Amino acid sequence: MWPLGLYWPYQKNSWGEEVSLRLSPDVERAYEQMKAFVETYLQPLEDQLPPFAQKLAPEKARDVRRALEAEGLVGWAVPKDLGGHGLGIPGLCAAREALAHTTLWSLSPVLGSEPPILLYQASPAQKEAFLLPTLKGERHGAFALTEPEAGSDAGSLSMEALPVEGGYLLTGTKVFISFVEESDYALVFARVPAKGVTLFLVDLPSPGLEIARIMETMGGARVARLEFQEVFVPTERRMGEEGEAFALAQHWFDVDRIALQPPICIGASHRALSLAAKMELLSDEEMGSWTLRLEAARALMYRAAQEAEEGRPVRHQAAMVKSFAVELALSLLDRALDLLGPQGYSQRFRIERYRRDIRRFAIAAGTLEIQNHIIARGLLKGYSRPLPGEVN
Ligand SMILES: Cc1cc2nc3c(=O)[nH]c(=O)nc-3n(C[C@H](O)[C@H](O)[C@H](O)COP(=O)(O)OP(=O)(O)OC[C@H]3O[C@@H](n4cnc5c(N)ncnc54)[C@H](O)[C@@H]3O)c2cc1C
Repeated sequence: MWPLGLYWPYQKNSWGEEVSLRLSPDVERAYEQMKAFVETYLQPLEDQLPPFAQKLAPEKARDVRRALEAEGLVGWAVPKDLGGHGLGIPGLCAAREALAHTTLWSLSPVLGSEPPILLYQASPAQKEAFLLPTLKGERHGAFALTEPEAGSDAGSLSMEALPVEGGYLLTGTKVFISFVEESDYALVFARVPAKGVTLFLVDLPSPGLEIARIMETMGGARVARLEFQEVFVPTERRMGEEGEAFALAQHWFDVDRIALQPPICIGASHRALSLAAKMELLSDEEMGSWTLRLEAARALMYRAAQEAEEGRPVRHQAAMVKSFAVELALSLLDRALDLLGPQGYSQRFRIERYRRDIRRFAIAAGTLEIQNHIIARGLLKGYSRPLPGEVN
């Protein structure tokens, strides 16, 4: 309905420098190619799935991955020398915005996934073992930070990593961990006594590591409780130095807040708004008002994506993007649901599915309350200072 077109030919960035924020033609092409794939391949697949599907069957996930690869639609942010498109964070945002024109994005990590950018900071041997196979879709990684007493306040996490000969013994509990069943390794945050929180690459399964429980949620997410009982992790699977986990991961948290959830919110909002417009359910004024908010979310997202790509600190911008895009999607999907009446509440138009799935973004990877704290702290005190209690 609308072109991607976000054209502010010249604007000043947060440092007062004049920058061009026009999306590159390659990024616009990424959006168009991905959108065409979604419309021709994924939307028909979406129609075949049961409405409350919690995951894509493994054989279907493999088919989708093969089809994406055959069309050259993977690795948007992956550097060209590693076989990717090299379109960076704006490219990833554009591809995921297009992907959100189906509800399938929530059902499998193969869809629109990229390896955590954190893995680019791994040692050469770790890159060989984890990053490269993840790029090829042969491995998938889960991310294990949250504990029963540490989520928003991640600085207080208590999983212990006890140094022993040749490595560490990890003991403790992780909760609400996504995509454990589809993953064969996890990035695990654990505390080395007297040194601090440290990051480990842990194989799934590993002796002593138990998936204690899988919990269904209101949308397409299944989350696991993981019990670690003296799980041995060799020293070469430690990422960075002891006590360095949050310093290593901070940029990754920020980029995720720009490029994982917001493009999904924006794409889903676009689809819902297009549907309401096509069915002539909106007055011109209401259409204008939603479009304004949608374009504002896009503008925030692509500007932050560009700044993150240039390596600038984007902590409070990332929090703004997440907060604004999630609130927009939740309110727009609610409104679309109301406008469609019983049809909206039914499973026919997928609005209810989007609404259930996107609801989790207000919690997962940092709640909206925490985003607003980060924004305030950034504006009031400067955002380069680490805030250990608000890393998630
Ligand atoms: C579907 C889903 C998938 C998830 N996947 C993962 C995953 O893959 N890996 C992972 O590690 N974690 C995952 N999580 C966990 C998620 O990141 C945490 O639940 C989230 O960060 C909130 O932390 P918490 O559970 O400690 O909640 P709490 O911090 O206890 O939050 C409870 C409420 O208190 C509010 N609150 C907390 N602190 C403050 C404060 N200082 N000021 C104001 N309000 C505050 C929160 O905003 C929230 O409203 C997932 C969660 C969900 C729901």
